[in-house]
Amino acid sequence: MRRLLLLPLLLMCLISCDDGEADEGASLSIVAVDFPSYDACRAVLGSDDGLVMLLPPGMESHSYDPTARDMVRLSEADLIVFAGGPSDEWVETLVSTLDNPPVLFRLIDQVSLLEEERREGMEEEGDHDHGHSHDFQMDEHVWTSPRNEISIIRNLSAVLSSLDSDAREAYEMNAAGYIAELERLDEEFRTIVDDAPLHTLIFASRFPLLYFVREYGLDYYAAFPGCAEESEPSARTVAFLIDKARNLAVPCVLNIELSSGLIARTIAEEAGVPVRTFYSLHNASALDFAQGETYISIMERNVGVLKEALGESDNR
Ligand SMILES: [Zn+2]
Repeated sequence: MRRLLLLPLLLMCLISCDDGEADEGASLSIVAVDFPSYDACRAVLGSDDGLVMLLPPGMESHSYDPTARDMVRLSEADLIVFAGGPSDEWVETLVSTLDNPPVLFRLIDQVSLLEEERREGMEEEGDHDHGHSHDFQMDEHVWTSPRNEISIIRNLSAVLSSLDSDAREAYEMNAAGYIAELERLDEEFRTIVDDAPLHTLIFASRFPLLYFVREYGLDYYAAFPGCAEESEPSARTVAFLIDKARNLAVPCVLNIELSSGLIARTIAEEAGVPVRTFYSLHNASALDFAQGETYISIMERNVGVLKEALGESDNR
């Protein structure tokens, strides 16, 4: 809501601000709102020429508010790539005010969507006093499945080729290379799940990984659905997860990156197991971003974690 109230002010600035720096040489100007969008663009373009990511690396993506400068960049872009879910609705709001709107590429439009799930034991907003209604709430974290990522890359390559037909061949070649790596990653996850003694993960955190677990036929328990505000969970939720961790004898409990990890440590301690980080890839840390880490290189860290979490002893 706060974001929408800021819009008129930022739009006024759009008129008076100068048009910022242009990327000379790059034929397309592309704005990626978050890391998965940025990574997909970089993979198909083969570089980050003409490409900017709005979300500052290392920032928890749901606490991000666009700045006036971001608004200027968006208004000048040829193409905007973004998740397209509830957390970046402000992109649509801004674009609807532009005379010459850029092309929009929403990650959610490239895949079959899942409804955000409420699993047994989760904190339930409507449980308490908010009278929350159970409307269909689409889960926006589509990129967490490598198979979805393949569709995203394929379709983005087609869109970029239509915007810059001279580079079509290069885009298609880059996309094919990245897709081959994603196929290999997908195969790695599939092999682990096939061989694993356990098939349930315990996320002592939020849970933006529904597409991932569904893709590989895994079960899960989590403290909060989707990217619900990570408040203090109730004693009941904490007790439920401790109980599940003990009964299922999971080798570790999972926490997602860029979250406090406080709940995870409590639950892990009680269950007598360690906490491991599972990457949801909303954003990259500042260091990872500076080092040019990719969707694939960060997802590769999940391979070892998944192996351990599902009870395979091999430590990588
Ligand atoms: Zn999220």
